[in-house]
Amino acid sequence: MDKIVVLETFYNPIEANIVKARLLDSDIQCFLSDENSVTINPLYTQALGGVKLHVFEGDVPLAQSILREGGLENSFEEGTEGLLAEVEREFPVTEQAASDFICSSCGSSHVGYVQATKNRFNILTTVVSLLLMVYPFKARQTHHCFDCGHEFDV
Ligand SMILES: [Zn+2]
Repeated sequence: MDKIVVLETFYNPIEANIVKARLLDSDIQCFLSDENSVTINPLYTQALGGVKLHVFEGDVPLAQSILREGGLENSFEEGTEGLLAEVEREFPVTEQAASDFICSSCGSSHVGYVQATKNRFNILTTVVSLLLMVYPFKARQTHHCFDCGHEFDV
């Protein structure tokens, strides 16, 4: 039996699962550890040293070459997009009646009440937070003009 070693450490449980799925696809046995603690509270990730991806020592060169292939970036992007679509279904953007507000910049009444796009930080942080139903931050809501893009608070 081969020795089991840590191939990679991830600070993002979603990324860890994507890499794990990719290795399993290539018939490389692997498993994650510390995942549960991380998922329960992402803020503890740092303290625990992240999610560790374990593989058999003999599989390390193959696993590393798979991760280096560059396909990882693509599958990671696809995974993120799928998650975003899911999040959008679960948390649809709320638009108020168009006549409620008038854009203070161009006068259009095509104005919606949405999450601010200006200081939208790391989208993955947002996705993870939504999926886990924890809110480490309060999303800033703002009025957004769909005609000129102007954002304003009323
Ligand atoms: Zn406007």
